[in-house]
Amino acid sequence: MPLEEYARKRQFEKTPEPPPGKSTSKSAAKPYFCVQRHDATRLHYDFRLEIDGVLKSWAIPKGPTLDPAVRHFAAHVEDHPLEYGSFEGNIPAGNYGAGSVMLWDRGTFELLGDASGAEQMARGDLKFRLHGEKLNGDYALVHMKGRGKGNEWLLIKKRDQFAEPGWDVENYAYSALSGRTQQEIAGNLPARKTKRKTAGAADAIWVSDRPAKRSAKSAGSAAAPAKTAPRKKKPQLTSRA
Ligand code: MN
Repeated sequence: MPLEEYARKRQFEKTPEPPPGKSTSKSAAKPYFCVQRHDATRLHYDFRLEIDGVLKSWAIPKGPTLDPAVRHFAAHVEDHPLEYGSFEGNIPAGNYGAGSVMLWDRGTFELLGDASGAEQMARGDLKFRLHGEKLNGDYALVHMKGRGKGNEWLLIKKRDQFAEPGWDVENYAYSALSGRTQQEIAGNLPARKTKRKTAGAADAIWVSDRPAKRSAKSAGSAAAPAKTAPRKKKPQLTSRA
């Protein structure tokens, strides 16, 4: 009953999160992965891999990375139902994990090596290749045995053509599903009409440009003359080209 803990922590009449459903693996397709940016008590990223009909899950305070030089702590948490993989929205105050949830990245993955997912989980050394919108390439999740509560793992990017030294997750803080920022999700604003392209310099410029357009539009009459100026995103992104 791998989803018992998931269900026990939640009251499904009070949260928009999905109850455990009937979905199991889509046999033919590659397994699914996703990352949710979760602004709960502490901001973190929830990293999920479809293995044996559920989403194996890790909470990563610093988020995933494309930088092979850093190892980010990943707390192994309870399995989530496959339905959770498309969830984006707000968990109301008073509920477990209250706060906004962004579907930050999604795609498919393949396990590397001959061992099954269950075997790799059991040995505490998962190796896989991601095919996401933001994350790509080879990764390892490694269990630090004999430490703390026993749930401590590390997420490590392998060196490959997708590796990017200095890569900063916070430069990509928008939804893969709706294009929204965390604040826009928290405010229940609608999805953006223009699908964001793969993140990169051009996208970064567009992002930093965006608040200006919006405040001009919504200012309507009196308020903001141009100089009241949009809270600017740091321009650091634009130097990443
Ligand atoms: Mn979470």
